[in-house]
Amino acid sequence: MENQPSQASIALTCSDCGRRPKFVTSILVPRTARTIRLFTCECGKRNWIESE
Ligand SMILES: [Zn+2]
Repeated sequence: MENQPSQASIALTCSDCGRRPKFVTSILVPRTARTIRLFTCECGKRNWIESE
């Protein structure tokens, strides 16, 4: 199980319902050399964080 992200436990709340979305995956974007962390909320809303 790799649903245990060590550095992805950033305080993120769903912009729709305010709950805390579950971490799905992280994606490296070569074009910007940044990592996008994708979260999915129980309400179905997808949220993401972009970081270096
Ligand atoms: Zn939500």
